[in-house]
Amino acid sequence: LQFDGVPMFEDDGSYRGMLFLLQDVTDIRRLEVMRSEFVANVSHELKTPIAAVKGFAETLLAGGVKDEETERSFLQIIHDEGERLNRLIGDILELSKIESKRVPLEYAPVHLKELFDSIFEMLQPAATKKSIVMLQNIPEHLFIEGDEDRLKQIFMNLLSNAISYTLEGGKVRVDVEVLGEAEEEEKVRVTVSDTGIGIPKKDLPRIFERFYRVDKARSRSSGGTGLGLSIVKHLSELHRGTLRVESKVGEGSSFILELPFMQQHEDEH
Ligand code: ADP
Repeated sequence: LQFDGVPMFEDDGSYRGMLFLLQDVTDIRRLEVMRSEFVANVSHELKTPIAAVKGFAETLLAGGVKDEETERSFLQIIHDEGERLNRLIGDILELSKIESKRVPLEYAPVHLKELFDSIFEMLQPAATKKSIVMLQNIPEHLFIEGDEDRLKQIFMNLLSNAISYTLEGGKVRVDVEVLGEAEEEEKVRVTVSDTGIGIPKKDLPRIFERFYRVDKARSRSSGGTGLGLSIVKHLSELHRGTLRVESKVGEGSSFILELPFMQQHEDEH
């Protein structure tokens, strides 16, 4: 609680009394703490690639590297860290836009099967590289109301995580089913599951937090920014969906997103 007092005076200048203001600032303080934690995290995340770029560039400039192979590998590191910075900044800006609700969703009917076909096509090379099989079980003529680009972003993130956190030869799959009887209650449940490394129980409640990773080194080597799932969570909520995760270490993970079917109709009420 914050407590402020100001003296009040009559028009002729004589003392009238005190005005006290008692204000609950818990929420404001909590927001301040969250904001400064986020700034600290962002700075830390940016510092690592910047230090690498600087360090390797300085070594090359000092002329200490004589053989071409080492020189190329240093240049490759500088390039890759530059890319990482780009991704990080992109994700940070994206998250801040989404969190401050500056992304108006453009609702239109989205054909789910076509959406997943195009996502599978984009991710096929990454899956093939690791001999991962991608499967889908999606009703042929199913449309939902949503923002196509944002839905794509949600499922691209979930599926590329599934590929990243699954070992060679594993499986990744998408299942779509319609839930509910009466039209008004109908929902679509999309499950993205993998036979991957899984997530320890103690980490499950935290994986949607910004920059939270179970294994920093693994996330880094797969090019992750640690922001993907926060973005997915926010975009799901903007679509009035619910997102949850089930996972077992060594067996795999499932991310389950339930979306209302007829969102545009609800909006018109
Ligand atoms: P990242 O960029 O690190 O992948 P995300 O926000 O997408 O960040 O995910 C946060 C963390 O959740 C990951 O670092 C990883 O530890 C864990 N994770 C996400 N998806 C999966 C999955 N399918 N299987 C196992 N762990 C996962």
